Amino acid sequence: MIPYGRQNISQEDIDSVVTVLKSDNLTQGKNVPNFERNMAKYVGAKHAIAVNSATSALHIAYLALGVDNQSRVWTTPITFVATTNAALMCGAQIDFVDIDPETSNICPLALESKLTAAEVDGKLPDLVVVVHLGGYSCDMKSIFKLSKKYNFKIVEDASHAVGGKFFEQYVGKCEYSDITIFSFHPVKIITTGEGGAALTNDDSLAHKMALLRSHGITRLNDEMTKTADGPWYYQQHFLGFNYRMNDISAALGVSQLKRLDKFVVERQCIANRYNQYFRGTNVKTPKKNKNILSSFHLYIIKVDKKIRNDLFRRLRETGIFVNLHYIPIYRQPYYSTLGFLPKNYPEAEKYYREAISIPIFPGLSNKDQSYVVENILNPPGQQVLF
Ligand SMILES: *Cc1c(COP(=O)(O)O)cnc(C)c1O
Repeated sequence: MIPYGRQNISQEDIDSVVTVLKSDNLTQGKNVPNFERNMAKYVGAKHAIAVNSATSALHIAYLALGVDNQSRVWTTPITFVATTNAALMCGAQIDFVDIDPETSNICPLALESKLTAAEVDGKLPDLVVVVHLGGYSCDMKSIFKLSKKYNFKIVEDASHAVGGKFFEQYVGKCEYSDITIFSFHPVKIITTGEGGAALTNDDSLAHKMALLRSHGITRLNDEMTKTADGPWYYQQHFLGFNYRMNDISAALGVSQLKRLDKFVVERQCIANRYNQYFRGTNVKTPKKNKNILSSFHLYIIKVDKKIRNDLFRRLRETGIFVNLHYIPIYRQPYYSTLGFLPKNYPEAEKYYREAISIPIFPGLSNKDQSYVVENILNPPGQQVLF
């Protein structure tokens, strides 16, 4: 079985985890602050807050930005449900903006026309969450410009885009957003087992997220409402969570981060080979743009909707674990009561009928990659599709 993605664990990764296991602190030791410092430095952001998942990171990011039951949050329908679930956890009203058929990311033109209409109705969003699908950055300059005109905050759900770049800068630098979220789930670019991070250049947002991650508790004297009763003393100021990353995960993260650039280069090599193989065929390959360096968390092809389902099934049958990222969120039964109509998202619907995520991960052999391509272009026992 060839999966669509998998982690890459070295002996050094294993050794660094074992070191933590033999130490005094399995959690709240030095590895979490180390990982945060290294991550922030790597992407060029001022702060990184490490947490136990990207979902947790999204939740505390939205809360830190003041998202509550009076808020409107807009995003793309082609993302993992966590992007909108975290907004629902804050009590917010969510809405979707259709995608750009070329990039499959949120479409800046569709966003602009939806904003124009919302302004008339007095229902502008408080927050727009952009998702860099497959690791290919959204058009942040256009979206940032709209955020200034229509006064909304921006969160980048960069779960796929760790190590990717937009105009020479690492995704996560937050040049065009308030907060950027990373995921370190094993199928993503680097892993901590489960884990995530929120990056920001804003001191007060960073502070709020750090408190929300750990019960809303502070141990700093100058933040307390009265003099400490003793050395044991701490104060809780608002309702927070236990979203902390542990030191075992963080040690793995520190070690994996050292190979991030290498992982991304390897993913790009695999993507380039796919691009070559599919040139001149009817397989539509991911968009290229000289200003965007995709981290290629996913390699998403599009094929004619008439053959997609058959091809998908046959690839699974030949041991190639292709996948589909994602079912448009409004199609989920849980979301159906919110009243979204698929016909309002024609590009997301089209995407859902044509897309397939095919295997890409560091360590995918040339032989396995050729096998994938062969089975896409010349499925065994079937007439040639292209
Ligand atoms: C993986 C993913 C998440 C959730 O990440 P976890 O670390 O598993 O919580 C959120 N958004 C997107 C786009 C993702 O791909």
